[in-house]
Amino acid sequence: MSRLVFKPLRAFQKSVAYSALIVAAIAASAWVVYGWAWQRGLDELHLVAARRMQTASASLLVPTDKYSYLPALLASHPTVLELLRYPDRRDVVQRANLFLDKIQKDSHAGVVYVIDQEGLTLASSNWNSKDSFVGQSYSYRPYFQEALRTGQGHFYGMGVVSLQPGYYLARSAMDDGRVLGVTVVKVDIGRTDESWRGGPGEITVTDENGVVFLSSRPDWKYRPLQALDDATLAEVKRTRQYEDVLKPPMRIRTGKTLAEGERLVTLLPLADEAKPATGAEWFLRSGALTGSPWTVNVFLPMDQVERQAQRDAILCAGVISFLMLSLMYVVQLRNRTAEREASRKALNLAHRSLELKHQDLQKLTEDLRLVSITDALTGAYNRRYFQDASAKMVSSARRHGQPLSVVVIDADRFKDINDRHGHPAGDKALQELTAACREGLREEDLFARFGGEEFILLLPNTDAEAARVTAERVRRNVMAREVELDGTTITMTVSSGVSQWRPDEPSIDEAIRRADRAVYAAKDLGRNRVVVE
Ligand code: GH3
Ligand code: MG
Ligand code: MG
Repeated sequence: MSRLVFKPLRAFQKSVAYSALIVAAIAASAWVVYGWAWQRGLDELHLVAARRMQTASASLLVPTDKYSYLPALLASHPTVLELLRYPDRRDVVQRANLFLDKIQKDSHAGVVYVIDQEGLTLASSNWNSKDSFVGQSYSYRPYFQEALRTGQGHFYGMGVVSLQPGYYLARSAMDDGRVLGVTVVKVDIGRTDESWRGGPGEITVTDENGVVFLSSRPDWKYRPLQALDDATLAEVKRTRQYEDVLKPPMRIRTGKTLAEGERLVTLLPLADEAKPATGAEWFLRSGALTGSPWTVNVFLPMDQVERQAQRDAILCAGVISFLMLSLMYVVQLRNRTAEREASRKALNLAHRSLELKHQDLQKLTEDLRLVSITDALTGAYNRRYFQDASAKMVSSARRHGQPLSVVVIDADRFKDINDRHGHPAGDKALQELTAACREGLREEDLFARFGGEEFILLLPNTDAEAARVTAERVRRNVMAREVELDGTTITMTVSSGVSQWRPDEPSIDEAIRRADRAVYAAKDLGRNRVVVE
């Protein structure tokens, strides 16, 4: 059990931790983007709702301008004034009814009628229908009271008889500074909601009790937004405002309040609803309709905002994942490149050190070879090397038909030097002797220590005479060399024997034997000379 087991485990734990961190970072970013996109969607809904609310309110307010002239016109009309002066005359009343009927038809207003100062309707454009206003008392209606008080009144309200929502414009009719009655134009706005269909979301208008009476969605019509309390319900029943058409309340669960008049709501399914809005979430903006007790409500579905926020969050997560993966890929690529570079360097180093080792080995081998073929004291080739090399030189001489000569060199009376100056001084003398012998030799000439104070020279492409000349030069070189030993200067001499190899001889050995004999002869003749045999 060692690091071999734990190392991969630790690496695994590390990578799991990293992955968890990355996933958490992606989730957090997605969550932030989701919130941001959701808020942006909400801002967008806020604008759409405001626009829709304006449009809806405008379509309700249009009658204000369109019919504002009519009550005043009626209030000053002789027929109306006559009616107010003589309300008991049947012919006057009838003339007024016909007149109002004509005005209504020409102007496309809902109903046109005249009320006396007590609030009783004297004549009306709908005098002939079963819902006729004639004989009805409207003394309690705000538009009537306002017209009596200020000269004119207007009012959004539900028709008491018709149950249809309308806009009431009223004007007082004067005679000699005295108020005789009030002329009223009721503009029907019961079908205004048809024009709201097809837009984004839904629009409803609720009355002072919160009952929907205009709605772009027909199945929401005549439902209270919230259940009515008993008193209100009793009052609504008493006034018979929505007698037959009132439906169970909508089931609205209020969620987050966003701003003044804006909140999120969930519409819960209704048992009697044809198309249940199953748990759907809506953005609801509510605002009062100017000059009325009514409220305009704009419902915009939240699902699109929700979907967009989810899409944005997923897109964000995707983009971040892609970037992270790209980053990881780049980092890994860089790591791998660095690793490759490191291993290349290591390989180079190993190669270089191997090369150096090889060179060392070569040098060592060369050194060993040199040691094995040279003499340690003088540095000249040893006897063994001479034997190998001479064999090759003999076969070369034979092949090329060239002469080959050998010179054996023996130091004269060397024992005396040892005796006189000591063995170490003798060694130095041998080194000096070697240097003197080597002077003026050719590259191809072979010089070796043959043993003790005896040396040998093998001269390729050299006959006996030329060899003698070389031997003579060597002898003179040796003799000319002054050697310092223990503070005294000595000179040495050598005796040499020369012999030429004969092409019939298989090796150099015979020639060496002859040269040896010549050395003896030279010694006998008094030393310090060259003898050829
Ligand atoms: P000759 O002229 O007759 O050749 O006399 P020589 O004294 O040179 O001949 P001899 O063969 O009697 O003696 C050779 C001497 O060379 C004896 C030996 O001590 C000495 N000698 C041989 N090898 C070495 C060496 O490596 N170092 C030293 N200091 N002396 C050596
Ligand atoms: Mg000797
Ligand atoms: Mg000797």
